[in-house]
Amino acid sequence: MKLKALNGFKDILPEDVWLWRRIETEARDVFGRFQFREIRMPILEKTELFARSIGEATDIVEKEMYSFVDKGVTMRPEATASLIRAYIEHGLYIHRPVQKLFVIGPMFRHERPQKGRLRQFHQLNAEVLGAHHPRVDAEVMAMAAMLLENIGIEVRLEMNSLGCPECRPTFRAKLIAFLDERMDHLCDDCKRRYSTNPLRVLDCKKTGCREQVEDAPSILDNLCTECDEHFTGVRSNLEQLGVKYSLNKFMVRGLDYYCRTTFEFITNDLGSQSAVGGGGRYDGLVEQLGGPKKIPGIGFAFGIERLVLLLQLKKKEAQNQQELDIFVAGLGEEAAAACYPLVHELRKGGLRVAMDHEGRSLKSQMKQANKAGSGFVVIVGDEELKSGEAILRNMATQEQQTLQLNVDAVKKAINC
Ligand code: AMP
Repeated sequence: MKLKALNGFKDILPEDVWLWRRIETEARDVFGRFQFREIRMPILEKTELFARSIGEATDIVEKEMYSFVDKGVTMRPEATASLIRAYIEHGLYIHRPVQKLFVIGPMFRHERPQKGRLRQFHQLNAEVLGAHHPRVDAEVMAMAAMLLENIGIEVRLEMNSLGCPECRPTFRAKLIAFLDERMDHLCDDCKRRYSTNPLRVLDCKKTGCREQVEDAPSILDNLCTECDEHFTGVRSNLEQLGVKYSLNKFMVRGLDYYCRTTFEFITNDLGSQSAVGGGGRYDGLVEQLGGPKKIPGIGFAFGIERLVLLLQLKKKEAQNQQELDIFVAGLGEEAAAACYPLVHELRKGGLRVAMDHEGRSLKSQMKQANKAGSGFVVIVGDEELKSGEAILRNMATQEQQTLQLNVDAVKKAINC
C-alpha cells in the first residue's frame, strides 16, 4: 500500500517554503509597524469554545470541525476564538487597555478540498481588542492592505456593516419577509439557512440563489444611528488613509460573532476561492466567552495558501530563491580535498556555500551552481591547485578573475 498524505493535507516542499517565509517575514514587519505583538496558542481547544463563539448553526461548527468527540476537544478551525480564550485566561486586558495581537499558524476544517481550499490551511491573523473607534477599523484594513501591497499582490477590498444586536433583528425580519416569497427557488442549503441563519442566504454562491437575492433589502439601509455613524466614520477614515474599497451588501461572513464592520479581500485569479482574507468587528465576543463586559474587538485573517498561489501566478516571483552565495567547484579528488576546509571557513564567515563530493564534471557542477542561483563559483582545477590559486566566476556578469585560494581573498573579491 502506498502511503500518501491525507486528502486536503499538503506537504509544503522546499521549492515553496521560501515564498511562505517571505510572506511571514513581511507580515511580521508590517504588523510590527502598527505595534502588533505575536501570540501563539495551542492547536487543540475545548469544542465548546468554538461552538459558543463561531455559532452552532454555522457551516464550520455544524459540519467542518475536526473533533475528538469522546474527549470534547477540537483542532482549531480559526484563531480568533482561541486568541480571546487566551486573552481572558491571562487577563491581557489588565495592563494594556488596547491589545494588538497577531497569530500565524495552521487551522483545520473538514471542507471539500479544491484549489485554494484545504483541510489543513494556514492563516495570518491580526486582532485588536479594547478599541471601539472607527479609526481603528480603518487602520486594521489599511494594515492588511499594506501587507498585500508589500508582498506584491493586487486584490480588492469589499466592505459591509452587519449592524448590531439592536438593528440586525429588524433587518432580519425584513429579509425573512423578502425570502418568504422566494423560498421555492432557493437551494436546499439556503432553505435550511432561512430558518437557522437567514443572512447567510445573501452570500450563497449558487447562481440561482444569487438571482433571487439580487433585490434583497440592504442592511446598510437598516442600520441604527450608532452603527450608521460608525460605518460612515470607517469609510471616511479609509479615504483619509488612501485605502480603496467598494461596498458589498451581500457580504455576511460565515461566523456568527461579527457585528458592524466586515470586510474581505477578493481576487479574480483563484476561481471560486476568491476570498484571500477577511475579517470584521466582534464587539460582544469577549463577554460572550466569559471575559469582562464591553471589550470590543476587530481583526482579520489571510489564508497563506491563497497568497502563495497568487504569488506563484506571477512567474517572476515564483522563480527559485537564491540558495547559495558561492558554489566551490573542485575538479578532481585532490582539488576537492583542498576546497573542503575552505568551504567550511567561508560558511563560518557567514556565507552560504556548497561543493560537490562526487567527482562530477565542471559542466555538471556549473549546472548545480546555476540551479541553486549561486552568485559566484570558485573553480579549482589541477593547474590552480599547483599555483595555490582559484578562478572566481561572477554568475550574473559571467566575468572571471584569478585569485589566491584562501578565505580572505575570496571574501574580498565578492565584497564581503
Ligand atoms: P475565514 O476564517 O473563513 O474568514 O477565512 C479567512 C481566510 O482564510 C479566507 O479568506 C481564506 O484565504 C482562508 N481560508 C479559509 N478556509 C480555508 C481553507 N479551507 N483552505 C484554504 N484557505 C482557507
